[in-house]
Amino acid sequence: PRTPVSLLGTGAMGTALARAWLAAGHPVTVWNRTPARTERLAAEGAAVAASAADAVAASRLVVVCLLDDASVGEALEDADLSGRDLVNLTTGTPAQGRARAAWAEARGARFLDAGIMAVPPMIGDAKSGAYVFYSGSPGLFEEHGDTLAVPAGTRYVGADPGFAALHDVALLSAMSGMFAGVLHAFALIRREDIAPRDFAPLLVSWLGAMAPAAHKAAEHLESGDFGKDVVSNLAMQVAGSATLLATAEEQAVSAELLTPYMSLLERWLADGHGDEDTTGAVELLDLRRE
Ligand code: NDP
Repeated sequence: PRTPVSLLGTGAMGTALARAWLAAGHPVTVWNRTPARTERLAAEGAAVAASAADAVAASRLVVVCLLDDASVGEALEDADLSGRDLVNLTTGTPAQGRARAAWAEARGARFLDAGIMAVPPMIGDAKSGAYVFYSGSPGLFEEHGDTLAVPAGTRYVGADPGFAALHDVALLSAMSGMFAGVLHAFALIRREDIAPRDFAPLLVSWLGAMAPAAHKAAEHLESGDFGKDVVSNLAMQVAGSATLLATAEEQAVSAELLTPYMSLLERWLADGHGDEDTTGAVELLDLRRE
């Protein structure tokens, strides 16, 4: 028999998760603040709990996927968590993950925090590459890892319950820089006779070709030697950024998405790191540095 799962929160993501467990034959109990959003799942075989506390009582493995950390506290306020295995798939900060872990443990539950690296259509599709970061109770992950792997791949990143959110948010932050760059690139070509659909494949392959530079950055961070085997040095890159800014001006495009990164690199150049690559500028971002 498959492990029963209680799922709190049947929004876009919660619904996709519930359907994946139902499709794999797990008994699923759902609860949602707005009951109408559980109707489709009920038709597909889910049991619907009248309250969050009832849903928690229905299965030892309890998964929550709500809007934010505050809604998790609110929804679980009256639930008896003793002896439960609580898995929080709600996006939050590392500090929220740690505080929620202490909160759950004080109520007698084992706890895993999680960060979902997927959008709902990727859930339950083994070929989509969807996965979820987990951190917190190793015992919980060991016991329920197979059940958690049904909707998406699993990556356990440590006993510190803040680590899932930290990995999740670090990847999302890198993505936000990438999307800013993509938006700027489209702004540059937009008013010309260049079709965005012809330009998009060029963007995708260029970003794909450049992304492995992160491996070199990691080597530099680990050795602390930012000048070893440099491919494009900082002095050259700062000089090149003048061309990027001049082109933005020629095309009458605001450079507001480019300038924060460029001014950081200029400050690092002024600090005397022209022969290194850009990775050392991470020092300037560290607000705890001496
Ligand atoms: P939705 O907006 O579709 O659903 C939000 C859910 O939270 C609903 O079930 C809503 O209930 C519930 N909720 C909100 N506030 C409260 C509250 N105070 N008390 C109880 N329930 C509450 O969001 P998603 O399903 O898309 O997202 C859920 C989580 O998954 C978020 O943390 C999101 O960051 C994360 N996630 C989502 C991704 C996506 O692409 N959708 C990707 C990766 C992570 P009600 O129906 O009553 O409003």
